[in-house]
Amino acid sequence: MNIAQVSQKLLPWYQEHRRILPWRESPTPYHVWISEIMLQQTRVEAAKEYYLRFIRSLPDVFALADVSEQKLMKLWQGLGYYSRVRNLQKAARAVVEEFDGLLPGSKAELMTLPGIGPYTAGAIASIAFHQPVIAPDGNAYRIFSRLLREEGFVEEGKTRKRLEEAMKQALDVEHPGAFNQALMDLGATICLPNGKPLCERCPLQALCPSAFREDATSFPRKKPKKARTREQFTVLLLECGGKYLLQKRTKKGLLAELWGFPMEEGHWSEEQIQEKYQAWTSDECIPLEVENLPPARHIFSHIEWEMIGYRVSLPHSCAIPEGKDMHERGQWATPDEIVDSYPIPSAYRAYLSLLR
Ligand code: SF4
Repeated sequence: MNIAQVSQKLLPWYQEHRRILPWRESPTPYHVWISEIMLQQTRVEAAKEYYLRFIRSLPDVFALADVSEQKLMKLWQGLGYYSRVRNLQKAARAVVEEFDGLLPGSKAELMTLPGIGPYTAGAIASIAFHQPVIAPDGNAYRIFSRLLREEGFVEEGKTRKRLEEAMKQALDVEHPGAFNQALMDLGATICLPNGKPLCERCPLQALCPSAFREDATSFPRKKPKKARTREQFTVLLLECGGKYLLQKRTKKGLLAELWGFPMEEGHWSEEQIQEKYQAWTSDECIPLEVENLPPARHIFSHIEWEMIGYRVSLPHSCAIPEGKDMHERGQWATPDEIVDSYPIPSAYRAYLSLLR
């Protein structure tokens, strides 16, 4: 295959078929950065709305550096992977302090910022600063795996290096941003990640040894996946005087420092719930009302939560026991306050919809 011909075929196709996306209208370094971080975890269609809302609220790096954590998390709610938005703010603060509020233009400097890896740095440097660098994302690795019929596992460093070398050879140094975005668009619309590639519409078909072959979908070669770990929890909607108890999760682990509903490990029986939470009321003569809620499931990348739930209506005389972790990190709020002001991760969505 003549690698130099890749960009000759790719760029005219991109000019004609490029997707119209809000962050492409004004590709400032800040806009490219925010969109690329969002797109790491979200489909383009879904990301558009989040992106526009985010940019309206936080139009520049100074606003992002200054915003409260709660507001930032609220803007990110539904996108998941909250460590990414925390890194986004850390990086914004570093840009304000170390670079006078201007994102640096070189890939190497960009990679010194929290949360910016080779792909995001390549995308910002090439699209916003016209630097002749590649932006190797999943689309680029998939397309080049098929072009090269690369046999190595794509998760392995040495395989990625081979693919990146080919990308560098193919890169149009005059139009690096267009080249990288063309690969993103080709991967999203033609050389698909799931399902048969649409080789009949692909500008690279004459160059590609995988074109129209049944086994094209077997590239890139991937290591067998490990099974997800299953974890069981009991989620509690603890209600008292029209308010529900929220709990800030611990500083480490899954959904760290985010607000959620109290949970117990394992699947608890109604009797166990009665016994534990009866102690929260100062009047032991008033029984709790415990209602079974439907089970729910949430899948993270490596873990799956299997949840059951109860609504526990506590009498007005209830209190969070002193000295407990729940007390330190607990907060009562009405359903409206929870929906409007608290960033509740989508893992709790099934129970969030049951607030009344
Ligand atoms: Fe992918 Fe087919 Fe294009 Fe090859 S010809 S890059 S397999 S869509």
